[in-house]
Amino acid sequence: MNKPLILTVEDDVPVRNLITTTLKTHGYRILLAANGEAAILEASSHNPDIILLDLGLPDMDGVEVIKKIRTWSNVPIIVISARSEDADKIEALDSGADDYLTKPFSVEELLARLRVTQRRLALMGTEAGQQTSVFTNGALKIDYAAGCVYLGGEELHLTPIEYKLLCLLSQNVGKVLTHTFITRNIWGSSWDNDIASLRVFMASLRKKLEKGPGKYQYIQTHIGIGYRMLRVGNDD
Ligand code: CA
Repeated sequence: MNKPLILTVEDDVPVRNLITTTLKTHGYRILLAANGEAAILEASSHNPDIILLDLGLPDMDGVEVIKKIRTWSNVPIIVISARSEDADKIEALDSGADDYLTKPFSVEELLARLRVTQRRLALMGTEAGQQTSVFTNGALKIDYAAGCVYLGGEELHLTPIEYKLLCLLSQNVGKVLTHTFITRNIWGSSWDNDIASLRVFMASLRKKLEKGPGKYQYIQTHIGIGYRMLRVGNDD
C-alpha cells in the first residue's frame, strides 16, 4: 500500500517544521503550501489523501479554502486552529472539514488524528464497493434496511429520535459533527439552537449503547462543538 500523501497548509514556520518532521518520521509523504491559493492548486493537481489546513492563512480564510476544495473533492480535511474560539472550528466543520486540532498540539495528537482519518478512509473504500446496508462497529450492529439495532447480538430498543441520531453518527463515523449539523438533520432548521434537547437525547442514547459488551465508548463529546462516533475494537 502506498504511503498516504498529506498536504500541509501552514504559514507558521515552526508549526510547519514540526508537522513535516513528524510526518516524515512516520512514513507519510508530504506536500506543502504556505497560503490558501497554493493549497487549492496543490490539492487540485496532486490529489492528496488528507489535508491538514491552518485556518489563519495570509491570503484568505481557511474556511474559504475548504469551501473551494469541497466543490470537487471529498478529501478528508483536518483543520488546525490557533484560535481558541469554538466558532471558527464550528464554521470549518460546517463548511466540510472532518476534524480539528487546536494549537499548540502534541505530536501524539497529530498522529492520532491522522490514524482516525486513515481508518475512516480505508472503510469508506471497502464500504463503497459493497453497498452495504449493515453497519458494524465493535459490538454494535445497525441494519439500516430493517431499522434494527443490535448490541452484542441483543436487539436494542431505541426511540425514533435516538435511532435517527445513531444513524446520522454511524453514517459519519470518525467525523466530528457540529450541534447545528445534527439538529438540522434530525429536526430541521427551526431547532438550530436547541442544544439542550440534543444533549438529553444524546445522553439517553449513550446510556443504552454503553452498557453493552465491552462497554465501548462509541460517542465522543466535543464540548462546545458537537459529537463524533468513534471506531472501536475490531472491525472484522
Ligand atoms: Ca497561520
